Amino acid sequence: MRVSTGLGSSSDNRMFTVVVESFGAGPQRRAERVMTVPFQQLQSLMQTIAQKGGRIKVVSAGDGESTPPASAPAAVSAPTPTPTPSGPKAAVSHADVPVNLYKPKDPFIGAVTGNYSLLAEGAIGRVNHITFDLSGGRLHYVEGQSIGIIPDGVDAAGKPHKLRLYSIASTRHGDDTNDNTVSLCVRQLQYEKDGELINGVCSTFLCDIEPGAQVKITGPVGKEMLLPADEEANIIMLATGTGIAPMRAYLRRMFDAEERAKNPEYQFRGKAWLFMGVPTTPNLLYEEDFQSYLNAYPDNFSYTKAISREQNNASGGRMYIQDRVLEHADEIFALIEDPKTHVYMCGLKGMEPGIDEAMTAAANAKGLNWAELRPSLKKQERWHVETY
Ligand SMILES: Cc1cc2nc3c(=O)[nH]c(=O)nc-3n(C[C@H](O)[C@H](O)[C@H](O)COP(=O)(O)OP(=O)(O)OC[C@H]3O[C@@H](n4cnc5c(N)ncnc54)[C@H](O)[C@@H]3O)c2cc1C
Repeated sequence: MRVSTGLGSSSDNRMFTVVVESFGAGPQRRAERVMTVPFQQLQSLMQTIAQKGGRIKVVSAGDGESTPPASAPAAVSAPTPTPTPSGPKAAVSHADVPVNLYKPKDPFIGAVTGNYSLLAEGAIGRVNHITFDLSGGRLHYVEGQSIGIIPDGVDAAGKPHKLRLYSIASTRHGDDTNDNTVSLCVRQLQYEKDGELINGVCSTFLCDIEPGAQVKITGPVGKEMLLPADEEANIIMLATGTGIAPMRAYLRRMFDAEERAKNPEYQFRGKAWLFMGVPTTPNLLYEEDFQSYLNAYPDNFSYTKAISREQNNASGGRMYIQDRVLEHADEIFALIEDPKTHVYMCGLKGMEPGIDEAMTAAANAKGLNWAELRPSLKKQERWHVETY
């Protein structure tokens, strides 16, 4: 193995190219793979490769800006990934996206492997990250899809409960990248009716569930929120609360070191911009992961938060996600003009009118008409909305 990394430091922004053999599953294992990661993720990638029996052939600074120290061995010039043709690719390929592999009459039974709170001390409500084992079945999925959960028990009429849909929060490889789990981000529904606290049936079932429990799972479903295959696409994400679930999967696919190692064909190098709305700081979800992506990919990832009960908008009111959209209207519209830009919105239905208003105002300021632009973006499969 030849290694040429120069002198790395935590503020090192260089990208590194790793050429590896005997890594991955099936026939792919024999092929040589080339992966590109920032310095901060280099060590973790090399550990993953070692754990999975891969053989590292070359590690070299891949940005061409730095030269290795004179004492370092000269790097073999690693093959560079095939350049992506310029111009928009077919927006999103729907052809090989799995749907309805398991239906409510014959659901997959998956065991819970983990269930933990995503909230910090002092947060409002309850939001959990829940993972299910999919081994032994044929349930697989891609980022942006949902699965159905049929809670145990019966409804008021004594009939089995109907399924509820949940956006998948993991990538197709699952949180452990072993291709046999699916994870959800679930908020327990709670409301008061006639002075009584009502707990949502399925969300409570899921938030309370213990590892080992067997759960009826259907799907996957959904083709609205798929990511384009183009590694140079720009991805604007507007999420409130658990609407972060699909975005978490996209961001892992883009920036997580193990994910990048698993997906040599998807080495994201576009711009990803997450707008996240929550009521309080302790309600932020997957915050550590996002901070690590910011450190590792400062040129490719931006993260803008709207914390409604702690921050004020320009008129002194609560800061909602639409206020952040307005603040950054120029940059957002400049990105939208690029045919490689996709916008994803996910969360409670209530977020839609606010975003629409903000986009209308932002478009007006640029002499554009949002009422015309939005359907046109939708037609180009660049405007993706999943609200519930
Ligand atoms: C595509 C899609 C993706 C989704 N993804 C997620 C996700 O990632 N995470 C997530 O947590 N949820 C998600 N949901 C929502 C999820 O499917 C359930 O609707 C949610 O968990 C509530 O289900 P439940 O069984 O707990 O509530 P239920 O017991 O079914 O209660 C819901 C019902 O309670 C009533 N109700 C609700 N609020 C009030 C109120 N304030 N006052 C009076 N009545 C009220 C309404 O009649 C409502 O239909 C998604 C939904 C869709 C369609």
